[in-house]
Amino acid sequence: MIPAVLPTYNRAPFSFERGEGSWLIEADGRRFLDLGAGIAVNALGHAHPALVAALTEQAGKLWHASNLYHIGPQERLAEALVAATFADTVFFTNSGTEACELAVKMARKYRYDRGEDRTTILTFEGSFHGRSSAGIAAAGSEKLTRGFGPLLPGFVQLPWGDHDALAEAAGRPDVGAILIEPVQGEGGIRPLPDQCLKGLRDLCDEHGLLLILDEVQCGMGRTGRLFAHEWAGIRPDIMMVAKGIGGGFPLGAVLATEAAAACMGAGTHGSTYGGNPLACAVGCTVLEIVGDPAFLAGVNRKASLLRQGLEGLVASHPDVFEAVRGRGLMLGLKCTAANTDVVQAGHAQAVLTVPAADNVVRLLPPLTITEVEIAEALARLEAAAGTLDA
Ligand SMILES: *Cc1c(COP(=O)(O)O)cnc(C)c1O
Repeated sequence: MIPAVLPTYNRAPFSFERGEGSWLIEADGRRFLDLGAGIAVNALGHAHPALVAALTEQAGKLWHASNLYHIGPQERLAEALVAATFADTVFFTNSGTEACELAVKMARKYRYDRGEDRTTILTFEGSFHGRSSAGIAAAGSEKLTRGFGPLLPGFVQLPWGDHDALAEAAGRPDVGAILIEPVQGEGGIRPLPDQCLKGLRDLCDEHGLLLILDEVQCGMGRTGRLFAHEWAGIRPDIMMVAKGIGGGFPLGAVLATEAAAACMGAGTHGSTYGGNPLACAVGCTVLEIVGDPAFLAGVNRKASLLRQGLEGLVASHPDVFEAVRGRGLMLGLKCTAANTDVVQAGHAQAVLTVPAADNVVRLLPPLTITEVEIAEALARLEAAAGTLDA
């Protein structure tokens, strides 16, 4: 008999009753060190007092108002994001894949308004943009799309790191935009080198293409800058954000320049819940905390500590691990053993990690993880690896 919850996930046999900072706690009191953070969602850990206060304060005032009216917390968060980034304007969604929907619509409408037939968007193999029809068509992998055709047309996937293929495709007359994750998440923590992101920006400028960045996983402080593209010193035209921006409350956004977004006038797009007062009140507090340069400096300090420890782990367990990769607190362990075995061995030590493609185990701890907790995480990963050594 089919379970009451549609069984689209392979779930580990845990159920958490509450969370505290970097810890998830089962009803019987068993504590797990959370290096997954809801897949980079709980950026400030669990039950952060400032987020609890922001949510409960807003909950006592107003839960929902239609976008037929002005929504105070939504306007405050949009203004804060505009002040902190390349963007001139923001549309709020409830998830990453909804942000993808709008990014794609915007890229198409931008061409339509100019009377251009440049509907094709270049994307990359191994990418992930969520599970909506546009998201799976954009990523294009068999794993995501099989059985769900006919797919939304207008996406061409290029091999990761093939400059010649990219340069050739960018010049085609039907191409209007490039969509890429600055650090691939689901694809196995593959960072795009800063030089390549700069090169992509140049290529877009040369051919008049829109550069759309998917920072749903790598954004909001995860790599040690507020947004990952800042490391390369470039500006996108459109950017998708979600996951960490709500700190655990469902919230996503599309940020854009005025030039890219001017095509989206009244009636062109909408969302009942997008920009909801509860979500945006929490989002304002997340941005205040994560956007503080001192906080980001702390992320970078902790990231080098964790990375150094992981390099040691890899060196002492060559039968289990091959290499460390990633940036900031978005790190991947490329495995020699099966990544799912490594995740399971972690479960036995009460440490939570997340598998990714390319036989990688992802570490995406709360950005608030402490140095003591990093030492504890390394000790538990060491113990887990010990149980897998040949
Ligand atoms: C998770 C993710 C998405 C999809 O976000 P949802 O909120 O699950 O729809 C899109 N892009 C990237 C890079 C992601 O990691």
